[in-house]
Order: sequence, then C-alpha cells, then structure tokens
Amino acid sequence: MSKSLRLSEKWFRRGLWLVALVFASFLIGLGGTIVGDLPKVETPLALDNFLNQPAAQRLREQLRGERSAAEAADSALAQAQLQRSKARSETRAQRESFNNWLATRSVTQRSEQDPEVIARTRALDAQQRAEQAQQRAVEAQQQAALDARQAAAQTQKQLDSMETAARAKLNEEMRRVEMRVFLYRLALTLPLLVVAGWLFVKKRKGTYWPFVWGFIFFALFAFFVELVPYLPSYGGYVRYVVGIAVTALVGRYAILALNRYLERQKLAEALPDQERRKELSYDVALARLAKSVCPGCERPVDLKNEKIDFCPHCGIGLFDRCGACNTRKSAFAKFCHACGVGAGRAAAVATAPAAAVPVPPVPPIPS
Ligand SMILES: [Zn+2]
Ligand SMILES: [Zn+2]
Repeated sequence: MSKSLRLSEKWFRRGLWLVALVFASFLIGLGGTIVGDLPKVETPLALDNFLNQPAAQRLREQLRGERSAAEAADSALAQAQLQRSKARSETRAQRESFNNWLATRSVTQRSEQDPEVIARTRALDAQQRAEQAQQRAVEAQQQAALDARQAAAQTQKQLDSMETAARAKLNEEMRRVEMRVFLYRLALTLPLLVVAGWLFVKKRKGTYWPFVWGFIFFALFAFFVELVPYLPSYGGYVRYVVGIAVTALVGRYAILALNRYLERQKLAEALPDQERRKELSYDVALARLAKSVCPGCERPVDLKNEKIDFCPHCGIGLFDRCGACNTRKSAFAKFCHACGVGAGRAAAVATAPAAAVPVPPVPPIPS
C-alpha cells in the first residue's frame, strides 16, 4: 500500500488512513454510547445480602447497647475514683488534725476533754467508713465496666463469625458475577472480532480499505479495552492461558504468511524473465530499486556499478540497452530516458530487420 511513488497518490493514501482512524473513532464512540444505554445487568452486591438479617440486626443492637453500657460504666468509674480520692484526702486531713490534737492533749492532761476524744474518734471512724464506701463504689463500677466490655467482645465474636461466613458467600457470588459480565462482553465483542478477522483476510486491500481498516481498529479497541480488563482472573490462569492462545494464533498466522511469501517468491524466481517482469507492478519495482534491492528477489544489489546488468541472486535483468539509441537504461523503465522511445516499442525496433526505417518516438502510453 505504501509502494506508490506518485506524490499526490501518497498524500491521498495518508488522507485515507486518516479517514480510517476517524471512522474507527466514531464507531468506538457509537459502541460506547450503546453499551452505556444498555440497562445495567448486575446490581451491586453488599455483605448484608448474605447475612441472616434479623439475627445480625439483633447482634448489632446488642453490641451497641453493651458498648454504650461500657462507656457509661467508664464515666461512672471516673466519677467514683474522683470521689474516692476526695474521701482519702479528707480522711488523711482529719487523722492528722486528730493526731495533733491528741499530742497536745497528752501534754495538757485535761480530763474534761475526754468526751471530745470520743466524739472525734467517732467522726474519724465515720470518715473512714465513708472512704471504704467510696472504694466499694469504685470496685462496683470497675466490675460493671469489665462485664460490659467482655459481653461486647463476646457479641463481636459472634457477629464476626457470621460475617466471615457471609463474606465467603459474597466472594463466591462476586466471582460468578464477574464471569457473567465477562460472558456478556464476550458475546458483544467476539462477533466484532470475527468480522474484523474476516475483513482483514479478505478485504483489506479492496477499494473500500479505509472503512475495512477503521472497522478492524474498532474491533481491536473493543477487544482490548472493553473485554480484556474484564477477563476473570482465577489467580491469573485465565489471563495467561488466553495470552498464550492469542500469541500462538497470531504467530501461526505470521509463520504461514512468511512461508507462503517464500513459496511465491521461489515460484516467481523460477519463471522466465519476461513473465516475472509482468508480475511486478511498475510502482513496486521502482520503490524496490530506490531502496537498492533487486525488484525480483528483494536482495541487495549494487545498482551504481555499471558492470552489473543482472541480479546476481535471481538473474532478473536490471539494466538493458534502448533498442532505438542503444543507451544503457533501467530494464524496468517504460521509456528510454535518452530518446523517449517506449520500452516495448524499442524491443520491436531491435528485433526488426536491419532494413526497416527507425520508427519515430510514440507518445507516452498512460500507465
Ligand atoms: Zn534478484
Ligand atoms: Zn533510447
């Protein structure tokens, strides 16, 4: 397709490739819109769909209750601890003041103060009892907080085991959904890919090739962007197996194509020179010559060496002499560059009897 040497034709071809790309982009846009408008085939899954709802609800309520009980017990405990420390410092202060008073009294030895000793001793006892009561209150709150926390842990454990079972079911279901989504997408993209393959094999060189290539690009995009990311993974097995299969398929096609090309080439090289010349298109021959390869066998030849008139690899004639003016010229040129006589005409002149008058140059035949 890129063998043409005419300048305008080259640009036309580039423009047509652009047409192919634009056509593909519109097809991709249309496909995306259609897929977007399709009703959503799957509802999103949540863990709760797989739980025993009433039981889970009850456990969650219970857990909430137990947690708030633990919190309440904690704040009550903080209060009780504060009260206890107040009572302790109160007791300490009273005991110190009483001890001081007793020390004073043992110095003065005033017996009329005995009832006060008794009263103050009683007050101190009462204070100590109050402190003990605060201590008990603290212990009770500690117990309550511990109970609530342990109950919450127990409930949490039950809930966790329920959720673990549900999560296993959820994962299983998600794998099934993944597979289903993949199959939907496969059903959409596989026919496209099959049609694209058929077009590639049969129609890629036809008149409407820009549309064919546009469709092929679209199908490839659909396959690699809309399908491949949705391949179920199964720990990577599917991806790698599909990758191996696709590579094997493409590789087989390439190997067969190479063998067919070599086969064709061998047959062509076995043909007589004139036959081979007819098989070669003018533009292809010129493009190969421009790359310094033999137009017949595509092997490199030294075209600048004036002694080389034939390909040393396949024997095809590369240079000959004009039948009219005997100038050395490319054997693939349609006209002599020195006198302008057509190559076919010149051959006729060369084989004509010597007595024949030279034929005047003929106007170029449109190729
Ligand atoms: Zn050759
Ligand atoms: Zn000539």
